[in-house]
Amino acid sequence: MTDAIRLLETLERERSLSLEEYRALLDAWSPTLAAAAAEKAVAVRQRVYGNTVFVRGLIEVSNICKNDCLYCGIRKSNTACERYRLEKDDILVCCEEGYALGFRTFVMQGGEDGYFTDDRLCDIVRSIKERYPDCAVTLSMGERSRESYERLYEAGADRYLLRHETADAEHYARLHPSTLTLAERMRCLRDLKEIGFQTGCGFMVGSPYQTTEELAKDLKFVEEFQPAMCGIGPFIPHKDTPFKGYEAGTLEMTCFLLSLVRLIVPTVLLPSTTALGTIHPTGRELGILAGANVVMPNLSPLSVRKKYMLYDGKIATGDESAQSLQHLKERMASIGYRIVVDRGDVKR
Ligand code: SAH
Repeated sequence: MTDAIRLLETLERERSLSLEEYRALLDAWSPTLAAAAAEKAVAVRQRVYGNTVFVRGLIEVSNICKNDCLYCGIRKSNTACERYRLEKDDILVCCEEGYALGFRTFVMQGGEDGYFTDDRLCDIVRSIKERYPDCAVTLSMGERSRESYERLYEAGADRYLLRHETADAEHYARLHPSTLTLAERMRCLRDLKEIGFQTGCGFMVGSPYQTTEELAKDLKFVEEFQPAMCGIGPFIPHKDTPFKGYEAGTLEMTCFLLSLVRLIVPTVLLPSTTALGTIHPTGRELGILAGANVVMPNLSPLSVRKKYMLYDGKIATGDESAQSLQHLKERMASIGYRIVVDRGDVKR
């Protein structure tokens, strides 16, 4: 325990540990150690962002995907998935509603749907930025060419989220079909950062075959990459995928990792994810109390929300919805945090 506390103090001071030290810290998880990590993480977050929580309006633009990631409910080979796509006008309606509710960042996320060519996506981004010049646009549309990312950036997109999923190439290969590689994922992330996007990486916690060895690599990668954002959420099985079973302790481990990532990158925009809210009724509060500072309520039209099922039980009509922002504000206020009307850019 004292050794682990010492590692935590080193991390707080240096924002860096060796791979072996990260693993030792993860292996030493205990409620006491996690509480100590959370206390430090909250202090760091308080220093950088105060008690503000940024909100993002999440628009799930399509569940059509050419990929076949083994863990994902909208994978190509899931024939039980009823497919949909939002077109430009649908997306603009979501933004209009979101703007009125107080959102100043719109996140367009979707499967890798060939419909969203550079021309179409750039046109949508431009239209959003024209109508809402005080808003940020985040894209989470998967792997694309460098040229495509460049065009989207020129069209006005501000941020791009692309979780690396796991920083271990062998582990990556066990979670994905052979057409997808960690090397290509990393190529995308490097391009995005070089182009100038506020870039987000991230990973699932409790994914199949994952041990603290892989998680230590994820932390080392976060340390080296210095992302503007980092999406960390529990893996939750989806009934129509080959991966069954939910790992006990995932909630606690996810919160611990949020704290550690906050210590590694103090300025990181760190969402308390919908998946965290799915595995525990107050999961999103727990994430904020561990050091997260972003929540991403759902702005997708109600008619499609149940179809963007990445995993079983994804919350889809309650407090995760953007329309319940008032209730979410109250929940955050009850733990001492303040949701703000703001783009919520990364502090430099
Ligand atoms: N096509 C985009 C968006 C993917 S969905 C892209 O490739 O980035 C967003 C995230 O959901 C994924 O990055 C993955 O980490 C997460 N996800 C997918 N299936 C999941 C599951 N079963 N449990 C938890 N998270 C999942």
